[in-house]
Amino acid sequence: MPTLRQQVHRLRGAEVLDLVADVLVIGGGPAASWAALTATEAGARVVVVDKGYLGTSGATAPSNTGTWFVPPGAEREAAIARRQLLNGGLAVPRWIDRTLDMAWQRLHTLADWGYKFPNDDSGKPYLNNLRGPDYMAFMRRRVLRAGVAILDHHPALELLTDSGVIAGAAGIDRQRNRPWRVRAGAVVLATGGCAFGERMLGATGLTGDGYLMAVEAGATLSGMEFSAQYACAPRQSSLNKGMPFSWASFFREDGTRLDTANKDRHVVVARALLEGPVWAQYDKGIPELRLWLRQGQPNCFLPYDRTGVDPFTQRFPVTLRCEGTVRGVGGIKLTGDDCSTGIPALYAAGDAASRERMTGAITGGGGPNSSWAIASGVWAGRAAAKFAAREARRIRDRRVTGIGRAGLRPALSARPDASAGDILETVREEFLPLGRNFFRGGATLRQSLDRLDRTWAELRDHLPGEGLAAVKSREAAALTATSRWAYASALARAESRGMQRRLDLPATDPEFVCSFEVSGLDRIDVTRSEIPGAVAQ
Ligand SMILES: Cc1cc2nc3c(=O)[nH]c(=O)nc-3n(C[C@H](O)[C@H](O)[C@H](O)COP(=O)(O)OP(=O)(O)OC[C@H]3O[C@@H](n4cnc5c(N)ncnc54)[C@H](O)[C@@H]3O)c2cc1C
Repeated sequence: MPTLRQQVHRLRGAEVLDLVADVLVIGGGPAASWAALTATEAGARVVVVDKGYLGTSGATAPSNTGTWFVPPGAEREAAIARRQLLNGGLAVPRWIDRTLDMAWQRLHTLADWGYKFPNDDSGKPYLNNLRGPDYMAFMRRRVLRAGVAILDHHPALELLTDSGVIAGAAGIDRQRNRPWRVRAGAVVLATGGCAFGERMLGATGLTGDGYLMAVEAGATLSGMEFSAQYACAPRQSSLNKGMPFSWASFFREDGTRLDTANKDRHVVVARALLEGPVWAQYDKGIPELRLWLRQGQPNCFLPYDRTGVDPFTQRFPVTLRCEGTVRGVGGIKLTGDDCSTGIPALYAAGDAASRERMTGAITGGGGPNSSWAIASGVWAGRAAAKFAAREARRIRDRRVTGIGRAGLRPALSARPDASAGDILETVREEFLPLGRNFFRGGATLRQSLDRLDRTWAELRDHLPGEGLAAVKSREAAALTATSRWAYASALARAESRGMQRRLDLPATDPEFVCSFEVSGLDRIDVTRSEIPGAVAQ
């Protein structure tokens, strides 16, 4: 039998690319790569479809990524206990432990495979950090070597089902402008988080597509109120790498210094930005740090080099960029240890999945999310392969139906003047401003929700989604839906906790040591649930 890659090659001139695989992985970041590799190890024939190019797309590829890498035993127990003090009492130690365990194993595997970790001062490989571009280029080679068929620039637009069981996905090959369809025994959604149309590194394609596809299939999301993650960036630049700002001082326009000592600098900077421009300077580090930062984070210095600013001796204007759920928390709720979603044959991994059990109410950046992408990718890939093995003989004969609606198949008449670009602007206006999302309030949340609900109804009824235009239409639908799920959850959580900052309800309320699950497309339902195993502070 020809391999999947041979089949893709043979079908290069066909009007539709129609494939049959055991497992379809949607996404092209670390979670997708680990899922594909693990499913292949389990004997599955795997296709990966990426909106971009596996190796350069997604949030990890352009970044330097710290991992949460802690050995088992006392050191790990202490690390978990320290994090418990910060995460708002919503994380589950058992989930953190099993994630750290899997990341510990697989980072060692990565070293065994030949990924070049730098050495630490004692000459041992330093596994706590992955250089995004090298890591993802390495993963691409590894995935190809495993025999996986990678379809770059093939965004998935909708899931396919057969009698309520997920049976593949369909989308468009954006370079040839032709439809593709992959019938598969199981699907892993590894489409990353949602950056709500913010202009930041690696996030162009992170528009919440996986959330929309999952909810259309009947899945639930959780932790969506924890979607107000922001990072410092030089103003006018999309460079949202926050690490160098650990050595920065911040100033108002008139030169007065902002007091960030023992405070969350993002909150201090956000407050000041609401009143006027804020400037920064990396003036806190010793001279050696300059060289080290330039070597470790070379692309961080491009905006300064281009404008002739020396950020160590000169001040430059800064802003806060919304990262949404990318370094945030919310995503598809997992219903089992194997990253199942409650929908037969559908699994989720990485930022597409909720990281609430792992990070609670605080950011998963700085280590947890990259370790989560590895661990959840492995679990999801393994479980998808197992599920698909049971379906193997039926896959080819299935009668599959596409279940995508908004942005693909207008409920009423398609209106050519309905514009995905306008919808994107609406989402940006409602979700990016600090005064709406970073600092939230009941009245502004309701106001935004009203507008977003109206936008949703319009796009559902009238936004056309044909040919290549379907990519932007579906993104517009996913962005609008995700904003509504996030704000509906933020209203339900009538308190402040972690990155949910309610100006009208500033206290943390012990009654809210719980999770909010959100589902539905036209009517959004938010339900409260307990978090089994969470350790309240
Ligand atoms: C600047 C920055 C620095 C960070 N630093 C750290 C750190 O130090 N430590 C840490 O733990 N975390 C960090 N993070 C977070 C970390 O990068 C993410 O958690 C991680 O990339 C998640 O991996 P993923 O595979 O789930 O998603 P991503 O890497 O974002 O990949 C998502 C993939 O899905 C694809 N996709 C999206 N929609 C579709 C579709 N419809 N069809 C097909 N494909 C689709 C995209 O093209 C992309 O390839 C950082 C994030 C940023 C932005």
